[in-house]
Amino acid sequence: MHESQMQQLWDSAHLSGSNAAYVEELYELFLHDANAVPEEWRTYFQKLPAVTGNSPDVAHSAIRDHFVLLGKNQRRAQPVSAGTVSSEHEKKQVEVLRLIQAYRLQGHQAAQLDPLGLWQRQPPADLLLNHYGLTDADLDTTFRTGELFIGKEEATLREIRDALQETYCRTVGAEFMHIVDSEERRWFLQRLESVRGRPQYSPEVRTHLLERLTAAEGLEKYLGTKYPGTKRFGLEGGESLIPLIDEIIQRSGSYGVKELVIGMAHRGRLNVLVNTLGKNPRDLFDEFEGKKLVELGSGDVKYHQGFSSNVMTQGGEVHLALAFNPSHLEIVSPVVEGSVRARQDRRGDRSGDKVVPVAIHGDAAFAGQGVVMETFQMSQTRAYKTGGTLHLVINNQVGFTTNRQEDARSTEYATDVAKMIQAPIFHVNGDDPEAVLFVTQLAVDYRMQFKRDIVIDLVCYRRRGHNEADEPSGTQPLMYQQIAKQRTTRDLYADALTQAGVVTAEQVQAQFEAYRGALDEGRHVVASLVKEPNRDLFVDWKPYLGHAWTARHDTGFDLKTLQDLANKLLQVPEGVVVQRQVGKILEDRQKMTAGGLPLNWGFAETMAYATLLHEGHPIRITGQDVGRGTFSHRHAVLHNQKDAVPYVPLQHLAENQPSFEIYDSFLSEEAVLGFEYGYATTTPNALVVWEAQFGDFANGAQVVIDQFITSGEIKWGRLCGLTMLLPHGYEGQGPEHSSARLERYLQLCAEQNIQVCVPTTPAQIYHLLRRQVIRPLRKPLVVLTPKSLLRHKLAISTLEDLAHGSFQTVINELDQIDAQQVKRLVLCSGKVYYDLLEKRRSENRQDIAIVRLEQLYPFPEDDLADVLAGYPNLERVVWCQEEPMNQGAWYCSQHHMRRAVSGYKQGLGLEYAGRDASAAPACGYASMHAEQQEKLLHDAFSV
Ligand code: AMP
Repeated sequence: MHESQMQQLWDSAHLSGSNAAYVEELYELFLHDANAVPEEWRTYFQKLPAVTGNSPDVAHSAIRDHFVLLGKNQRRAQPVSAGTVSSEHEKKQVEVLRLIQAYRLQGHQAAQLDPLGLWQRQPPADLLLNHYGLTDADLDTTFRTGELFIGKEEATLREIRDALQETYCRTVGAEFMHIVDSEERRWFLQRLESVRGRPQYSPEVRTHLLERLTAAEGLEKYLGTKYPGTKRFGLEGGESLIPLIDEIIQRSGSYGVKELVIGMAHRGRLNVLVNTLGKNPRDLFDEFEGKKLVELGSGDVKYHQGFSSNVMTQGGEVHLALAFNPSHLEIVSPVVEGSVRARQDRRGDRSGDKVVPVAIHGDAAFAGQGVVMETFQMSQTRAYKTGGTLHLVINNQVGFTTNRQEDARSTEYATDVAKMIQAPIFHVNGDDPEAVLFVTQLAVDYRMQFKRDIVIDLVCYRRRGHNEADEPSGTQPLMYQQIAKQRTTRDLYADALTQAGVVTAEQVQAQFEAYRGALDEGRHVVASLVKEPNRDLFVDWKPYLGHAWTARHDTGFDLKTLQDLANKLLQVPEGVVVQRQVGKILEDRQKMTAGGLPLNWGFAETMAYATLLHEGHPIRITGQDVGRGTFSHRHAVLHNQKDAVPYVPLQHLAENQPSFEIYDSFLSEEAVLGFEYGYATTTPNALVVWEAQFGDFANGAQVVIDQFITSGEIKWGRLCGLTMLLPHGYEGQGPEHSSARLERYLQLCAEQNIQVCVPTTPAQIYHLLRRQVIRPLRKPLVVLTPKSLLRHKLAISTLEDLAHGSFQTVINELDQIDAQQVKRLVLCSGKVYYDLLEKRRSENRQDIAIVRLEQLYPFPEDDLADVLAGYPNLERVVWCQEEPMNQGAWYCSQHHMRRAVSGYKQGLGLEYAGRDASAAPACGYASMHAEQQEKLLHDAFSV
């Protein structure tokens, strides 16, 4: 704002009698909430350019300083006269409005959130009357309430303060004033203040709450007696979680939600399984007794198990899925999001009305684990949004043995990280079940209305140690002295209801015994459980079960239709102006389609997608820069040079084609790979691809690779057809851009858990991608993709190669070489093949054959044996790799190769040609790289 405008404003009749401090305070107030200042002031402030919209063009402090400066001048010039807006009452009115704002902002700091009563928090000075120049003498003075939602325009200061105290400082601590959207803020103000933070609940609702608490406590007590000292990560101290989830399910159901996917770590999991999802207690007891419950696989401990069921709600049947998860805390959150997105896509639920994610966290992990931040960051992005997640933090105030505040975090609350996306946060005292119910209702309503994340921080405690075999008082003595004295949540609530005449002591006892009786008989304890679930609510995985990886599937495709599809892709609509180099790529693709140019990688990959779409399979591709491709080979998204509007040819193949979704991801590996795992384990008929920008960046997602992708099937029986594209190749770009760390994947291979492939031709990637979907086997596919090969003059295919055949696990020598003459067979994978080929051709060696292993796992032993058998006079077999000896395929795959070689001729060994062992994946100097490369090629031909 210009000086002159400010002066003009200041000089106006309305302002001329006021003083700077007053205006400044009003302005402060206005900045927090425009509705909190009187109408005439609001109109003035709104006219200032600095405060229109969300991005002031003049800094707030500058305007404030201006007011102060002008005020000083004014004060000097004109004394304040009585009867103007600066009258004593008006000034106090402003202070009262500030007090109201302070409660909204900071009331949570004075709320009674800790059931143990151990928190030592000073109520903030901003909540005290004297902070505003108000005293007890003002308590009976009447003030305007501004937009305080207490149903009155005017009230005494006492009433106002009491209403604020009740709303913001009882057992709910509300944090929502950091939300920038004023509609959302007002929504919360209205919801909270209109009931003073505590609605009245009917006797039925209250009795139901008690029943749920009885179930929660009853199960833990039962297990504690029956299996003393056995690890179960009990919920004791946090029993309010059970009525909380119950309300989420029931209320979501009443909105018409059809599926809820829940992710949670160990604490309370068994309780949720039995009391919420309706797992048969007898099955749980069998697990406690160590019985093997699944036919296949090596299994997992009981507190990692997932579960699915259907329950009945007011709005109809709802499918519940509790995700399987490992001990790595928080990693399940993005997996749940991916699963939810897949279900939403399946239902065409673009807005997230039908499927809702629920993420249950622990306080220490929520504050500590980076994947929490990554998952929040994805919540509103195109690729990953799910219409808002309900986050519940089981805040037991201790992380294993680590103390809540001094060591576990640097923030006041464990939940502060959620503010990064302006998520509202409701802290609630776990010993007040009605307050828990209230915030749960608020959370579900908010999520359904605004489609954004919200956090409930259930402040509770952990009655025992980290697990039942762990003694906590050694490290948290004072806390556990208090816990020893603490009556259970159910006990306290039962007393409260008995005193209020809602239930009798006999009814309380009867509730308890009924629950115990059900457990004794091993009966289901969830009344709303649907015994004959509606199977339409979830996917049938049977077609994907029980297939052998060796079964061949023809991945060819009618040549004419292939060309038609390619032509369709290349028809860029009128008005879409493509960038010059992109135009050249499209021209080249036109020539490839017409048979005038050999096919390159980008073309073949695109045709794999086009043909799969044509055959009815949806496709989802994500990763950093996937639209274009890190190395500019894909160009699946064309950006109109006129208006930057993207055009995706693969979305325009046919009227009712399956979806083709391609999104550049935000810069994460861990959360996004977890998400795609969740997506792929929920969508068997689709091709789901995640591409790393460079292959080694996947190391940021190692937890997902270890704990889910490579072991999920054997631990949990969960199939997954996810494809990972990992650029790999030694091209002198240094340690960080060369290796996709092939050795790590190979080291994790066993029991046919994943497929690891290194295709070297356009036709091979085409058939490989098609095989991944057309073959009904659902196994994760790890593909080491090339960089320089994308444009290599020898790495080419023909249209016929795409039209016929299938993926070859082993590619035999292609040059015309007399097999009788071959003495040396060089085995290799990936780009080094072309270096070897060029060398062999330039040296005109007729005694060497070069054979490519295009699939390293499951190892194609039979195919390799067949190839070897074609060379009757072999004297040496060499494995050649670009990677250092301690990396690449050498250590992890040589036993497979040796088996094939010794099967060919007893006593024939396998020799190594490659870089020496090295701590780094590659060297940093181009000259050194070239020397090493030359040597390994030389070795391959002469060791
Ligand atoms: P959900 O919708 O996740 O509750 O899954 C419903 C049912 O489908 C499960 O109970 C499983 O029997 C089956 N199922 C779901 N996902 C998979 C998967 N990835 N692999 C095999 N079976 C699955």
